[in-house]
Amino acid sequence: MSEDKPHQNLAVIGHVDHGKSTMVGRLLYETENVPEHVIEQHKEEAEEKGKGGFEFAYVMDNLAEERERGVTIDIAHKEFDTDEYYFTIVDCPGHRDFVKNMITGASQADNAVLVVAADDGVQPQTQEHVFLSKTLGIDELIVAVNKMDLVDYDETDYNQVIEEVKQLLKQVAFDGDKAKFIPTSAFEGDNVAEHSDNTPWYDGETLLEALNALPEPAPPTDAPLRLPIQDVYTISGIGTVPVGRIETGTMNTGDDVVFQPSDVGGEVKTIEMHHEEVPKAEPGDNVGFNVRGIGKDDIRRGDVCGPADEPPSVAETFEAQIVVMQHPSVITAGYTPVFHAHTAQVACTIESIDAKIDPSTGEVAEEDPDFIQSGDAAKVTVRPQKPLSLEPSSEISELGSFAIRDMGQTVAAGQVLSVNE
Ligand code: GDP
Repeated sequence: MSEDKPHQNLAVIGHVDHGKSTMVGRLLYETENVPEHVIEQHKEEAEEKGKGGFEFAYVMDNLAEERERGVTIDIAHKEFDTDEYYFTIVDCPGHRDFVKNMITGASQADNAVLVVAADDGVQPQTQEHVFLSKTLGIDELIVAVNKMDLVDYDETDYNQVIEEVKQLLKQVAFDGDKAKFIPTSAFEGDNVAEHSDNTPWYDGETLLEALNALPEPAPPTDAPLRLPIQDVYTISGIGTVPVGRIETGTMNTGDDVVFQPSDVGGEVKTIEMHHEEVPKAEPGDNVGFNVRGIGKDDIRRGDVCGPADEPPSVAETFEAQIVVMQHPSVITAGYTPVFHAHTAQVACTIESIDAKIDPSTGEVAEEDPDFIQSGDAAKVTVRPQKPLSLEPSSEISELGSFAIRDMGQTVAAGQVLSVNE
C-alpha cells in the first residue's frame, strides 16, 4: 500500500444496521487491503479449501470479532488505497461513539460515505449523522443506497430513497448537487468495485470510482501547530507525556511550544509515535511528547499545544453558528450547557441569540429572536465559564467545531465564527 498518495480521512455514516461495517469490509476486500492479521488468521483455512484468495466472509468475521472485543482505541482505523488516494476509514461501530468522536476530533473526516438501506430509508440516525457531518465540515457526501438486493434491485425503490435523502440534505443546507448516489449491495458487492448487471438502469459511478473522484484535501502542514491534548501521562524515565493528534502544522524536537489555556510552555525534548522516537510529526499523527520543565499538573486534557510565537487563542467570548438538533423545549439566552470542542469539555453560557438563520439560504431570517428550538440554525454569542482554547475552523482544520451536550444527549452542534480574546 503506497503512502505516497494523497491522504483522505473517510467517515462511514448512517443508521445502525444499514450496512456501514459490511461496506467497510467490502471496500477492504475489493481493494485487496485486508489487514495482515486477518490474512494470517485465515491462511490455513483458505489453503485447505484450495482457494487462492480470501473470501469476503473471512473479512467480515474478523471485523465483527474486532468489534465485539471492543478495540482499545475507541475507533477502529482501517486503511485502504485506491488508484488516487490512501484512505483511512473512520469506522464508527456505535452511534454514541460516532457522535463523541465527531466532536472530540478523533473522526476528523474530510469526506463521508452515507449508507442508507434501500428497504428502510432515512432513519433518525441517518438524520443526525448528516446534521453533524454538515456542521463539522464534511465537504462531499457519497450516498450508498445499500441492500439493493433486498428490494430486488428495484429502480423505483432506489429513487424513493434518493428523494428522502435529498429532502434531508436540503434541511441541513448540504449542497444536494454535490452528493452522489449509488445503488449498492455491500453484501453482494454490487456497484462497489464493479458495475453490476443487477442494476442495468444505473450507468453512474461505482463506489470506488466515486471515491477516486473526491477532491483532494488541502495539506494542513502550512498552518501553525495545533495539537489538542487528549491525555497526560507520567512515564518513568521520560517524565510528563501529553498525547494527542496533530490537527495542523508540524512539531519538531527543539521547538518552543505553549499549552493554552494552561499558559505554560517549554522546549520539545522528545516526540514518540507508534512506540518509536521521531524527530518530527505531521498533521494526523498521534503523538506522545515531552516538554522540558512541564509537570503532570501543569497541563490537562483540553489544552491546545501550539508554537510559542503563534499560540492558540483563548476565548473570553466567541461568536458561533449553531444548529439545534434535538432539544425538548426551547433555548433562550442564559442557557449554560456543556460545550465539547476538540478534546475540551467546558460549560458555556449562550449570552445572546443574535439571529436566526435560514438553513437553506444561509441568510438571516430573524434578528434577535427570543428563543430557538429543534431544527433552527442561529448565530449566537457564547461565554465559556472556564478558560477555553478555541479558534474558527479553516479550510484545513475543524478546530472550531463543537457539539453542545445536555441531559445526556447532543442537543446542538456548531462552528466558531470569531473569537474575542
Ligand atoms: P452497521 O450497523 O451499519 O454497521 O450494519 P452492518 O454492516 O453490521 O450490517 C447489518 C446487517 O445487514 C448485517 O446482518 C449485514 O450482513 C446486513 N447487510 C449489510 N449490507 C447488506 C446488503 O447490502 N445486503 C443485505 N442483504 N444485507 C446486508
